[in-house]
Amino acid sequence: MVVVMKLQATETEVEKVQERLEQLGFTSYVIQGVERIVVAAVGDTKVAGPLGLEVLPGVEKVVPIMRPFKLVSREFQSDDTVVTVGGVQIGGSSVVVMAGPCAVETREQMLETAWAVKQAGAKILRGGAFKPRTSPYSFQGLAEEGLKLLAEAREETGMPIVTEVVSPEDVELVAQYADILQVGARNMQNFALLRQVGQISKPILLKRGPASTIDEWLMAAEYILSQGNTQVMLCERGIRNFDSYTRNTLDLSAVPVVKYLSHLPVIVDPSHGTGKWRWVGPMAKAALAAGCDGLMIEVHPRPAEAWSDGPQSLTPARFTYLVGELRSIAGVLQKQI
Ligand code: PEP
Ligand code: MN
Repeated sequence: MVVVMKLQATETEVEKVQERLEQLGFTSYVIQGVERIVVAAVGDTKVAGPLGLEVLPGVEKVVPIMRPFKLVSREFQSDDTVVTVGGVQIGGSSVVVMAGPCAVETREQMLETAWAVKQAGAKILRGGAFKPRTSPYSFQGLAEEGLKLLAEAREETGMPIVTEVVSPEDVELVAQYADILQVGARNMQNFALLRQVGQISKPILLKRGPASTIDEWLMAAEYILSQGNTQVMLCERGIRNFDSYTRNTLDLSAVPVVKYLSHLPVIVDPSHGTGKWRWVGPMAKAALAAGCDGLMIEVHPRPAEAWSDGPQSLTPARFTYLVGELRSIAGVLQKQI
C-alpha cells in the first residue's frame, strides 16, 4: 500500500506513519515526490482489522497496491527512476544508446569497436565476457580476461561498460569491473542471481526472458528491488516465436505497457530481438517512437568474423547511419541522443 501524506505534512508525522507500519509488520519506504511525500509499505497484507493509518495526523489517503509487484510499480513511485552511471542518465530526457560487440574477443576488436561506437554517438559500451550459449561447445566468453579488456576500453574512451553476469558466484568479480551488470534473458528467473545482484550498489540491466510475461518480468525486477538495489533497467529483447525470418519477436507493445506499469527505465535490444542486422535499424527506430529510454545494439567491425551473433551485428558504418536517423526521430519527440 501507499500512504499519501498531505502537502504540509511534517517530518514527525511521516515518522509516526513509518512507526505504525513497522508495528504492523510492514517494511516502509519514504519517497520524496516532486510535490509531496508518500510512504510505501510492502509486506504481508493479511493483517486483520483496521490499520488505523487514515486517522494519523498528516495522512491524506491510503491507496492499496493491487498488483503482484509493488516496489517496481507506478503506484509505489509515480516519478520515473533515473539511473545515473558515469555521468550518463538513463530514464531522463535523453535516449541512451548502448553499443558494442556481442562478445569481447580480442583487445584490438574491443578497442576498435569502442572507438567506432563512441564516435557514432553511443554513450555506453557493451560486450559479453561471460556468454550464456545454447550449446556448451560454443565460445563461452573470455571471463575475467574479457572484463579486463572492457575496463581498458572504458579507460581509453571514457564510456561506462555494461556486461553480463551469469551466475551468483561471479557477481562480486563482475561488479569489480562493470558499471552496469546485465542479467540475461535466460537468467531472468534465476532467483539466486536476482537476489545477489539486488545486494550490490551498481545498476542492473534486466532482460526479459524469452518466454516471459510482463508480470513475470516485473516480478523478477521486484526480486532485485526487494534486496535494496533500486537501480534497475528493464530490457525488452524479443520473445520466442514460431517464425524463422526473425530470431525472436521484438515485443514493442511492452514498451508503453511497462512504462505505464512501472517507473523503471525501459531499454530495447533490437539485435537479439530480430537476430538479423537488416531488421535492427527499423526496429530501433520503432522502439524509439514507442517511448524507450535507451537502445542496446550489437556492433562488430567485421560481422562475418564475429565469434558470436555476427548475423545480427551492425558494421560501424551502418551503426553510424542509424544513430543519425535516430537523432532525427528523437528531435521530433523532443528528446536528445
Ligand atoms: C547478449 O546481450 O549478448 C545476450 C546474450 O542477450 P540475451 O540474454 O537477450 O539473449
Ligand atoms: Mn549477442
